[in-house]
Amino acid sequence: MMNLFGKKSSELKKETPKGIVCPNCHAENTTNISVTGVYKHLFHIPFISGGKYGTSACTNCNHTFKFPTMPMSIKLAYYELKETTKTPIWFYSGLISIKILVLVKIFSRYF
Ligand SMILES: [Zn+2]
Repeated sequence: MMNLFGKKSSELKKETPKGIVCPNCHAENTTNISVTGVYKHLFHIPFISGGKYGTSACTNCNHTFKFPTMPMSIKLAYYELKETTKTPIWFYSGLISIKILVLVKIFSRYF
């Protein structure tokens, strides 16, 4: 069977917040935190958003965390970053195209 539906992800925002100490190598200000958005696609066209998740990576020791296992200080910084990260409109490209097609169809009855 062909894979018509699927999930892809795209990094939306990345920051190195001040004051975070890497729990692995104890270096300060070396932890990159990124917010990644997931979208569901149909025929490789992004359709709807599938939420966001967080990861962090230390630039000094390359230690990485996924959201569930992040230490609290990194989790808090992630929440702060996520708060200012908007879901890009192109995640909804397919859905928007369908809405536009429906609107065009409706309006074409009157003009
Ligand atoms: Zn480190």
